[in-house]
Amino acid sequence: MSATASITAPPNPALTREQIEAVIASLQPVQRIMIRLLLLPYMSPSSDDVFFMARERTEPNMRAGGNIATAFGSNADIRREKISGVPKDWIVSVENRARQYQAQLRENLVRLNLLSDFFRDYLAGLQPEIAALEHLLSAECEMSPESLDDLRAQARLSPITYALKKLAARADKQEVEEEDYRRERLSLEYQAHLRRRDRFKKRLDQITVERQAALISSLSDEFLAEVWGLAVGPIRNRRVKAIQAYLSALTIALNASPDQASMTAAVNAGIGPKLAGGSKNEGVSSSPVGLGGDLWSLTVHALAAELMSSGAPKPCMHPESGTKALAAKLRGLATYELGEDDEVKIWTRTVACFNCATALRTAQQGSGLLARQADEVLAQVTTRTAMPRKEVAEAVPEKAKDVPEETGISLEERLRPWIGDDAGETGGRGSQTWW
Ligand SMILES: [Zn+2]
Repeated sequence: MSATASITAPPNPALTREQIEAVIASLQPVQRIMIRLLLLPYMSPSSDDVFFMARERTEPNMRAGGNIATAFGSNADIRREKISGVPKDWIVSVENRARQYQAQLRENLVRLNLLSDFFRDYLAGLQPEIAALEHLLSAECEMSPESLDDLRAQARLSPITYALKKLAARADKQEVEEEDYRRERLSLEYQAHLRRRDRFKKRLDQITVERQAALISSLSDEFLAEVWGLAVGPIRNRRVKAIQAYLSALTIALNASPDQASMTAAVNAGIGPKLAGGSKNEGVSSSPVGLGGDLWSLTVHALAAELMSSGAPKPCMHPESGTKALAAKLRGLATYELGEDDEVKIWTRTVACFNCATALRTAQQGSGLLARQADEVLAQVTTRTAMPRKEVAEAVPEKAKDVPEETGISLEERLRPWIGDDAGETGGRGSQTWW
């Protein structure tokens, strides 16, 4: 599976991948390899690079701690195939580690891009729904501006899910007048939407910070040392020199004037864990780390614009992975239909999972919700919030059978976003339109 990342255009369109690659290729081998490792999500070490790294392990003064003879197990009987004097398994090992880290870094960046786009569009699509609900409340239910203010003020604390279930149960037993039902239903949906907006605004802010940090961070010295098979000391030394050499060469290639900002940004980028937000272990900083206009940031920006995910993504870790029920929940989440309680239950795993993030974005793009005109939104909200009719409710199972290709899921699964997992306890049968 691959997904093109959408990202804002680099501020300096003059810098291209070809230029960057040409400058890197002009560097000395050690520096060339180092820059490619620092830009690992966007480029791979060449076979020459891999051979060079593997060969260095034979040099005693470059080794990481421990005896190299035992690095691949203590079985001395294994006769290793050698390529130009370098054991082949050393070469394979360097290549595999580079690939493994590259896949992880790419998957993470593509996931962050997907979520970032998803959150932004989610909020954009939510706004006209909120406007439609406000309009219906004031125009049709004749709610005063003060009452609307009250609804807004109470939205954060209102037990919306419970109230919706209760309302649906009353409607099911025909214990509520149509006008009252409508007013209450619109009020609750309005509050639910306001809460959605708050949640996703926070999520968008968080993901923006996390994504920027991920973009400007490189593998830390410890990871670089692991890929290369060297001690951290020489790695740090080489990183600083390689960045200086790269930026000098790029400055000349672009006829730009040397600037300290580029050097600082690049040196920081290589530090990884010491940077705010640069390490998974240290969490994400609370303020966005901006991508500057320096040459290193421009390099990252130019390359990140065409970032592709590679390899097979890790499997979905949801207990209900691969089920129609999970697919229905994700679709409901993407289209503002999944209740807050259910959303909370699946949220953490969903955003951490590349597959689920992809499913969310696909559902959003396929829903057509973003392309709706205001009158369309109004009509849909009006239909959705109308009091359910007994006969209509009971006709649903047959209708559902007629449109399996549209939804691909059973009636119960279609209803689950609205009725939760406890269908039946609260009279869910007759309430196919609730939230
Ligand atoms: Zn998943």
